[in-house]
Amino acid sequence: MAVATPIQIRFERFDGALDIAPAKPPRVVTDQEKPALLARIRERLKAMDAVLVAHYYVHPDLQDLAMATGGTVSDSLEMARFGHDHPAKTVVVAGVRFMGETAKILNPEKRVLMPDLGAECSLDLACPADEFAKFCDAHPDRVVVVYANTSAAVKARADWMVTSSIAEKIVAHLHAEGKKVLFAPDKHLGAYIQKVTGADMLMWNAACVVHDEFKAVQLEELKLKHPDAKVLVHPESPANVIELADAVGSTTGIIEAAVRLGAKEYIVATDGGLLHQMRRRLPGVNFIEAPTAGKGATCQSCAHCPWMAMNGLHNLLDVLETGRNEIHVDPAVGTRAKVSIQRMLDFARAHLPALKGSGDA
Ligand code: SF4
Repeated sequence: MAVATPIQIRFERFDGALDIAPAKPPRVVTDQEKPALLARIRERLKAMDAVLVAHYYVHPDLQDLAMATGGTVSDSLEMARFGHDHPAKTVVVAGVRFMGETAKILNPEKRVLMPDLGAECSLDLACPADEFAKFCDAHPDRVVVVYANTSAAVKARADWMVTSSIAEKIVAHLHAEGKKVLFAPDKHLGAYIQKVTGADMLMWNAACVVHDEFKAVQLEELKLKHPDAKVLVHPESPANVIELADAVGSTTGIIEAAVRLGAKEYIVATDGGLLHQMRRRLPGVNFIEAPTAGKGATCQSCAHCPWMAMNGLHNLLDVLETGRNEIHVDPAVGTRAKVSIQRMLDFARAHLPALKGSGDA
């Protein structure tokens, strides 16, 4: 079995030394101004024939608003699907940029807006399309599989796009066909898939700044304090953290596992934003954020994505009032990117008919 060989290290965690604009938190919302802001956003959504689709990792205020106004809170693919199926002419994506791009690729006829176009993703940033194309060109014998957390241009170079909940099944399918895989950009997700499928995979070397921070030693200590808690881990986490999991899954998969396992207490290794939905769905259950490195490290070493946190009520209202921050994707790039996305959707339909939320970030 071939061993994954990283060809380069872009960065393994965001330490501020890179030439990347720092994530800017949105304007703070006071308790006094919140009711009027929410009311105005509701008015504008209606007046603009717009629907709000929010990712599980954004602030609870945005998640609740999306649900209350007929939008959705979900993973990245379900966000795009929802925007496609919904009759609204404008889709407002509260998430990060690749999610807005995917929504636009799948819904080119619609206007897609985002509260802040500077909301990036470390995986997307660590995989520039030109360098990735050279990597692919150097390995023409491999099927190119990319994670959803990539730019439209990277998706356009891929054979398949996958999300974390379907990646394992698609790579297993390719492996069964005797194909070798080039996987990008998340090295932890790639390593996990390689371990469970046994596929021959060559990996790009990047990581999510949030999930890369979960620490196995501290998690073991936390488990000792909560001996009955089940551990739920996103596969973007390091391998030694995944090894401690009772269930490994995408955001949707983690919620489903919490329901399935029926425990009274869970330690959850993914962005803390997901806990809002888990607490709504399972009231009375105790959810604990898995430990990170502590203050002073990447992302202030919290379990919260700094770019997801750029979405707020003020900048949401601003785009609804001005029409600013529209997502544009070069139509030629979008057409090519759609091929790799559509391949995954067709696979999901054929092999996993019951699959609803097959996407994730
Ligand atoms: S949580 Fe990680 S993978 Fe998700 S958007 Fe943020 S940096 Fe990207």
